[in-house]
Amino acid sequence: MPTLRDVGEIEAIRLLHQAVLGRADVVVGPGDDAAVLRCDASEDLVATTDALVEGRHYLPLWLNPAARGARLAAVNLSDLAAMAARPRWALLSIGARPEHEMDALVEFQRGLETALAKEGATIAGGNLVAVDGEEWWSLTLLGSVARGRAWTRAGARPGDLLALTGHPGRAAAGLALARRAGAPDAVDPKWRPLLEAWLEPRARTAFAQALAPAEAVTAAIDVSDGLAADLAHLCDASGMGCDVDAWSLPEDPLLGRAAGTLGLAVTPLRLGPSDDYELLLAVDPRSRDAAERAARESGTPLAFLGRFTGRRGELALLAVDGARTPLDPRGFDHFAGAR
Ligand SMILES: [Mg+2]
Repeated sequence: MPTLRDVGEIEAIRLLHQAVLGRADVVVGPGDDAAVLRCDASEDLVATTDALVEGRHYLPLWLNPAARGARLAAVNLSDLAAMAARPRWALLSIGARPEHEMDALVEFQRGLETALAKEGATIAGGNLVAVDGEEWWSLTLLGSVARGRAWTRAGARPGDLLALTGHPGRAAAGLALARRAGAPDAVDPKWRPLLEAWLEPRARTAFAQALAPAEAVTAAIDVSDGLAADLAHLCDASGMGCDVDAWSLPEDPLLGRAAGTLGLAVTPLRLGPSDDYELLLAVDPRSRDAAERAARESGTPLAFLGRFTGRRGELALLAVDGARTPLDPRGFDHFAGAR
């Protein structure tokens, strides 16, 4: 297996470029000093960046090169979904050791490009440097949105509905089960969907794109820290509070069984730290139907969990009997053994 050292930098870059497809909105692609991208005058450009660092964000044992590429795409795609942007162009920067196998590098890029292409984006350029220590993989993703129509974290109003895609807590459960098992083949196959939520998240791009034209969303954030923490970020930016109906959290029997196996309570697992890459939205109550329609069209589970209030910074969990418990994001560190 030839390594980066055997192949040399110039040939390595040529091999990586060769795998990238051309596109009309990429006027100058990989291979020149910079990429030239063609924007539409009626749109705003939306940019985000995120990196994976070896040992810190991924363990080679759990993620093969293609899956690592797909994961890097997903974390960036999720940020663009939270802004209602259409993903378009990516710049990839890699810090790899000279002994990195060239085939593994090409595999990584293939996984990344495939995941980007599913949502309409392509690699438009990049950079490759040699490192001695931990390897890293950094992606800058650019997208576009109709001028002035990007969703932001600010903008929720009292009475707006709190909506949530998918099943938060699954990524945290997958990670906890993986830590307990120690190796991929030691994990009971019945936990597969939870492991996938952790290792292979899929951004809610299709849902965001289906919902964007309805102008139903007043504020949005993607769940990368955990439901309670990200809801607190959104409330903070909007200057709002939020009442969450505990009984409205979507049913998730598999997560419930995993919580039992892990000796954890299920509610902290669902509200606490978990990088699920789901979307939390503030929705105008008059547009609830539009949100439900976008969810159906894109095959996305969507739940309405409560409503925003003018009580700035006050997050509360409401029980069926009307009891209110303050919802403190710091109180859900399930690895501290909280129940
Ligand atoms: Mg985000």
